[in-house]
Amino acid sequence: MAKIMTKTDRCKGCGLCAAHCPKKCITFTDTMNSAGYYPIKVEESKCIACGSCYTMCPDGVYEILA
Ligand code: SF4
Ligand code: SF4
Repeated sequence: MAKIMTKTDRCKGCGLCAAHCPKKCITFTDTMNSAGYYPIKVEESKCIACGSCYTMCPDGVYEILA
């Protein structure tokens, strides 16, 4: 079951979340979002729902479900 939800249309590809993810499970897609950026994707099997991405993202992309 997913531990986080992402609203990837809000992502601007700044990389802050990926730089601070302790599990290094955030990467970037090669499909442009509606805002014209290449958004993040999360490898959910590695995610420990620590909340770091949620804290770091200035654009409200993440929601922690756990
Ligand atoms: S909740 Fe933690 S482990 Fe999961 S993607 Fe965010 S920073 Fe990485
Ligand atoms: S911090 Fe937010 S806007 Fe920046 S890459 Fe991560 S999800 Fe996208």
